Amino acid sequence: MIRYALACDHAHEFEGWFGSSDDYDAQADAGQIGCPTCGSTAVTKQIMAPMVAGTKRNTPALPAQAREVMMAAMAQVRQHVEDNFDYVGDAFATEARAIHDGKSEERGIYGEATPAEVRKLVDDGVPVAPMPGDSIKKPQLN
Ligand SMILES: [Zn+2]
Repeated sequence: MIRYALACDHAHEFEGWFGSSDDYDAQADAGQIGCPTCGSTAVTKQIMAPMVAGTKRNTPALPAQAREVMMAAMAQVRQHVEDNFDYVGDAFATEARAIHDGKSEERGIYGEATPAEVRKLVDDGVPVAPMPGDSIKKPQLN
């Protein structure tokens, strides 16, 4: 069975069930489909706008491939930072500012900072970027 949303020439909307689309065509041609409101047999199918409502996610997921590429790129950036930058822990804000002011050796650093510290650094023109990925993995110190 197929359900069609139908409308007559007076723009009355109603629904009809048919065995198939051919069945609908045959009945429509024979004038057997009448508007329940005004009895008009000048009935047409309404355009349907199909959709699938996802129940598990509110936003469409990235295609798996794109997600993989992105995760790999993020992991590379992260690896590069961990390999080449100095880990300064929670002294990050102080050290970043010292480097920016030329009071400390110019180099890449990473560490932890509070959102307020980061905002202050950005306000002062210190180029701070978030580390991609999860929370920082502290290097083993021994
Ligand atoms: Zn009608």
